[in-house]
Amino acid sequence: MQIDAPFWDSLVFDGIDDVEVEAVTAAFGTVEVVARGRAAACSDCGRFSDRVRDRYQRRLRDLPLAEQGFVIQLTVRRFICGSADCPRRTFAEPFSRLAAPYARFTTRLNHALEWVGLALAGRVGARLAAQLGFGAGRMTLLRRVMALPDRRFSTPRVLGVDDFAIRRGRTYPTVLTSVEDHRVVDVLPTREAGLLAAWPRAPDAAPPMLCRSPTWFHLWQGLGRAMETCVAAYRDCLRNPVDSLSHGPDPSPQEWGRGQPGGPWLR
Ligand SMILES: [Zn+2]
Repeated sequence: MQIDAPFWDSLVFDGIDDVEVEAVTAAFGTVEVVARGRAAACSDCGRFSDRVRDRYQRRLRDLPLAEQGFVIQLTVRRFICGSADCPRRTFAEPFSRLAAPYARFTTRLNHALEWVGLALAGRVGARLAAQLGFGAGRMTLLRRVMALPDRRFSTPRVLGVDDFAIRRGRTYPTVLTSVEDHRVVDVLPTREAGLLAAWPRAPDAAPPMLCRSPTWFHLWQGLGRAMETCVAAYRDCLRNPVDSLSHGPDPSPQEWGRGQPGGPWLR
């Protein structure tokens, strides 16, 4: 297929200056862009070289285009570094803004897979990925999530501690939360005090202030259900708001609840 190279360059490699399009083909529901690098500098000495030692191919799956698969067939050149005082003999074009080393997906597709994996995890995420045309299985999604860097660790100033039951009440893990910014910090496998005492914190951080976690999920949940049941049971007793306007002035505080167990809100 003859191509408008500047158009495809701007479409596929927007913000990626070291790649240029050579050809575009479309067949069997897949658009394939053939591309190569423009120039590369040695990662050690920073000098550019035009002495090509060899070439190899990378096939990168990218985000779908108009519900068609999208693949970048990339020619990678390995150069000989001509600098006499450089310890590196050869170097390959890195294309670091397009894909990670040895990756089979572009960086943008990788990010999309991370989002799907974080939201839906393995099996459900794989079903959504298939619908979106990402072509990634559940293990791929899980590997993307596992490869994500850990969040920067900081010891909370106020640490909330609570336990919860799993496995029908046979196991009680402990959840640690940062009370001030309402985030889960860690989950300990049991509710033994020794585990909490040994819980690691940043070496130079002051010991956190401990409190019973305000996120007592089970208590809030139980209270909400009880309130819902109570209100539903007395639903027929609720006074019509239109009728209440025609009943004259509001009762005095002494009259509140007189003969009406539910107070002024119940008949
Ligand atoms: Zn060099």
